[in-house]
Amino acid sequence: MLIAQGGRCAICEQPEIARGKSGAPKRLAIDHCHSTGALRGLLCQGCNTGIGLLADDVDRLINAVLYLQRWKGEGH
Ligand SMILES: [Zn+2]
Repeated sequence: MLIAQGGRCAICEQPEIARGKSGAPKRLAIDHCHSTGALRGLLCQGCNTGIGLLADDVDRLINAVLYLQRWKGEGH
């Protein structure tokens, strides 16, 4: 799957930037569905933590997108 995603995060499409204690780049996290345990994809630490903080709640994430889009292009 890492190869299928080109070593990039399934959400932000960037390679992992976080580094471990040794200074070596971390591997993308393997994301599992919390209810079924099914493998969902590989995520960088930031995205994995982000969706986790929003409780993997699709409605909440969509609302977060809509919220952020409201402020786009308004010259802030
Ligand atoms: Zn990411």
